[in-house]
Amino acid sequence: MRIGVLALQGAFREHLDTLHAIGVEGVRVREPADLDGVSGLILPGGESTTMRQLIERWGLRQPILELAERGAPIFGTCAGMILLAREIAGDEPPTLPVLDVTVERNAFGRQLDSFEAEVPVPILGDRPVHAVFIRAPIIERTSPEVDVLARLDDGRIVAVRERNILATAFHPELAGETRFHRLMATMAAEHDDPGEGSGRRPHPTRRGRPAR
Ligand code: GLN
Repeated sequence: MRIGVLALQGAFREHLDTLHAIGVEGVRVREPADLDGVSGLILPGGESTTMRQLIERWGLRQPILELAERGAPIFGTCAGMILLAREIAGDEPPTLPVLDVTVERNAFGRQLDSFEAEVPVPILGDRPVHAVFIRAPIIERTSPEVDVLARLDDGRIVAVRERNILATAFHPELAGETRFHRLMATMAAEHDDPGEGSGRRPHPTRRGRPAR
């Protein structure tokens, strides 16, 4: 199995290293042909505005949307989560609106530019995730289709899943955390080889909606 990592900008190397650590082949994705044969895609942290422009420039928007619509897992961390959000607070256009949430960029302000926290993520087991937040976004709104996977102590949402779309406001890959990548690899394996009665439900097509 091969998992793609969008490698246009930002913290993609750490995702490749994390995939390597769990024995999954990671491939750098810079142009549409790099998506051939991948079973899923990771969108790393970085600068979401820059990544949006590069995604457009390299013609990656449509191929990534098609991968998501086929039901392959897509995992966005931090800026990657912003790219997946249907709505961004303020007046910014969405990039790959396959995750029905509203995010606020740089939601922790200047004082809390970067911080680390132990965040419980029940679907990953009892041990909390050591989460690194860097000029992180927050999830302000989720639709009923979206499962909340993690919240901060104050209740703010920092990790979600909507069918094959997984997103965290923080960077698990910067703290040696492998469980999100393992979860994604499991989702990719199920997508590649859906077992009997697995109830495979690809992400619904949203092509009809204007991309604002
Ligand atoms: N602040 C960045 C943005 O809004 C995200 C930061 C990150 O990915 N660590 O795009």
